Amino acid sequence: MTQHSRDDLWRDFPKTATEFERRFATEEDCRAYWIKARWGGKPACARCGSTYVWPVRDGTTFECRDCDHQTSLTSGTLLEKTRKPLKMWFRAVFEISTRRTGISAMDLMRIMGFGSYKTAWTWLHKLRASLNRPEREPLGPRRDGRGAGRGRRRPAQGVSSVGNMDEIHRNKIGR
Ligand SMILES: [Zn+2]
Repeated sequence: MTQHSRDDLWRDFPKTATEFERRFATEEDCRAYWIKARWGGKPACARCGSTYVWPVRDGTTFECRDCDHQTSLTSGTLLEKTRKPLKMWFRAVFEISTRRTGISAMDLMRIMGFGSYKTAWTWLHKLRASLNRPEREPLGPRRDGRGAGRGRRRPAQGVSSVGNMDEIHRNKIGR
């Protein structure tokens, strides 16, 4: 519909195992993919929108030369505050997206070697929601309308995962 209709993180994600292995051999490969998917290849400050940034912390964060704000690769996205490598998340995305008809949290737990069902459940639901994101929805977890349709400008990081956690707890009790 709009130019941004396929503007999501996974639009260029590998569809086959061979392609996955080839493109995501290292964590650096994964970071490059993420930068392209999230920022169109040009990282931007989450606070002021400046693209005058330089990589710090092994390229996992970008520091803004205009306002000094540090924007991590994952801040403001579904992977905000993750301590796991992107490669691990990408593997999970691959497993989920290549068998949409039925992967369970238990399957994912086995495939990924997670120690807990809760972790597998959380990853599965987080990623599934991201993969099934309606086309009109802009990139990022917020739905407050600010910056809608323009993947670049995002509100500062901070509280975006609260709603998700509540949902996870509710659902967990329900099971
Ligand atoms: Zn800035």
